[in-house]
Amino acid sequence: MSYTEDRSTIIAGGSTVRSTVETFLTSIEEQSSLHAFLHVNTDGVRCDSDASDERFAAGLARPLEGLVVAVKDNISVTGQPLTCASRMLEGFGPLYNATVIERLMDAGALVIGKTNMDEFAMGSSNETSAFGIVRNSVDPSRVPGGSSGGSAVAVSGGMCHVSLGSDTGGSIRQPAAFTGTYGLKPTYGRISRYGLVAFASSLDQIGIFSRTLPDMQATFDIIAGYDQMDATSVKNVSPLPSVSADQLRIAALPVAELKGCDPDIIAAYAGYLDALRATGAVVEEVSLPYSELWIPTYFILATAEASSNLARFDGVRYGLRAEAEDGDITTASRSDGFGPEVQRRIMLGTFVLSAGYGEAYYTKAQQARRLISDAYAKIFESYHAFALPTTPTTAFGIGDVKDPVQMWLSDYFTVSANIAGIPALSVPFGTDSKGLPIGMQLQGPMFGDERIMDIAATLASR
Ligand code: GLN
Repeated sequence: MSYTEDRSTIIAGGSTVRSTVETFLTSIEEQSSLHAFLHVNTDGVRCDSDASDERFAAGLARPLEGLVVAVKDNISVTGQPLTCASRMLEGFGPLYNATVIERLMDAGALVIGKTNMDEFAMGSSNETSAFGIVRNSVDPSRVPGGSSGGSAVAVSGGMCHVSLGSDTGGSIRQPAAFTGTYGLKPTYGRISRYGLVAFASSLDQIGIFSRTLPDMQATFDIIAGYDQMDATSVKNVSPLPSVSADQLRIAALPVAELKGCDPDIIAAYAGYLDALRATGAVVEEVSLPYSELWIPTYFILATAEASSNLARFDGVRYGLRAEAEDGDITTASRSDGFGPEVQRRIMLGTFVLSAGYGEAYYTKAQQARRLISDAYAKIFESYHAFALPTTPTTAFGIGDVKDPVQMWLSDYFTVSANIAGIPALSVPFGTDSKGLPIGMQLQGPMFGDERIMDIAATLASR
C-alpha cells in the first residue's frame, strides 16, 4: 500500500500507524537476507508510531503523519549510526539531524532505519559496502544497483513507504530502474545537503524512492526548499509550470545513440516514446551534443571532489584510527578504513588535481561541464523535457561486472543530469524477457522537478 492510501484508511479508522509499522518491521525481518538495512530503529519507530496514532485520533495529523521512511546511511539521523557502509565510520554517531530529516520529522514522518549502500556512495551495484552486499528483491541472485541499493530494496521489497537516497551520478535512478521503483534526483540546490556526507559536492543531491508518484510528490513538497545551512541551497525557487499533455514537447535520444544497450532496453525505449506520444505529447528525436564527454567528465570531477572531501577521514578527527608501527597513523587508518573502490577514487582524484595535470584534466573537465550544460539548455529552449533510458541493461548478476571501468559505464545515461544540475526521474516501465524491471528516464530543465513528476503521472494513469 502507498502512504496516500494508508493515510486514508487510518483516517477512516480501518488501520493504525502502529500496525503499518509492524507490517514493515516483519517485512524487514523476513527479508533480512537481502541486507537492505544496516540498522533498524525497531523500538524508536514503534514508539513514534504510537505518538502518530494519538495525533490521528486527536485530529492533529500533520502532512506526512505516519509516513515510514528508510534513510540511506550517508544521511545523519541522531540516535542512529552513520557509517556510509565504511569501516572508516564504524561506530560513529551523528550529532545532528540532516535538514531533510528535521523537515520529515516535523511533518510527522517516522524513520524506520538506515539502509545499506556502496561505500561512501561509490559504486553502481552495492557490492562495495564494507558490511556486505545488498540483493535485489526481484531476483536475489542479482544486484539492486547502487549506490543507494538498500534504499531501493527497502521500497521495492515493501519495508517502508518511501526512502531517501543520494544521487551523485545516478545512485538513485539506476537502483530505481533495477528494482522497479520511482527514483528522483532533484534540481541541484532544491533539497538541502546539510547532513549528507559529501562525496562530490557539486554533483551530490538527496532524492527520493517511492512506489507511487503521489508519495514521491508529497515527500518532495516537504523536504524541498531553501535551507540556510546549505550554501548551495537555492532561494525563492519558482517551480516551472506544468504543461498539459497536448501542449507538451519532449525531446528523445535517437535510438541510434543508445550505445551498449540490451535489445530489451531498446525495445522498451521505443514503447516508452510511443506511450508518451499516446498521452498527446509531441516526441521528437534530438541528438544531444557532447554525450561522449559525459562519463569522462563525471569521473574526473567526481573523483577530484571526492579526494578533497574524504581527506577529513585521516584517523585523527573522525572514525577509525589504526595502529602504526612507524607512527604514520593517517596512512594506516586510510588503508584499513577505506575499501578498494574508495581508494581507487581518491588516488584518481588526487592525480587529476596534481600539479602539472590539473590543467589537463580538472580544468578540461570543467570546460566540458559547461558544454554539456549549454547543450541541455539549448534543448530546453524548444522542449519541455528530455526522454532517455535510465540504464543500458537490467539488473546484472552479483559478481558479474568485475572490471571497474565497465561498472562506471553503466552510469552512461545518468551522469549528465548531475553534471548539468537538472532534475531527472526514473520511471518503472515494464520488464525484460527475464522478467526484470526496466527504468526509463525523464529529465527536465532546472526547477522542472514538479513538471517531470507530472509527465510521469500522466503516463502512469493511462
Ligand atoms: N555509480 C556512480 C559512481 O560510482 C554514481 C554514484 C552516485 O551517484 N553516488 O560514482
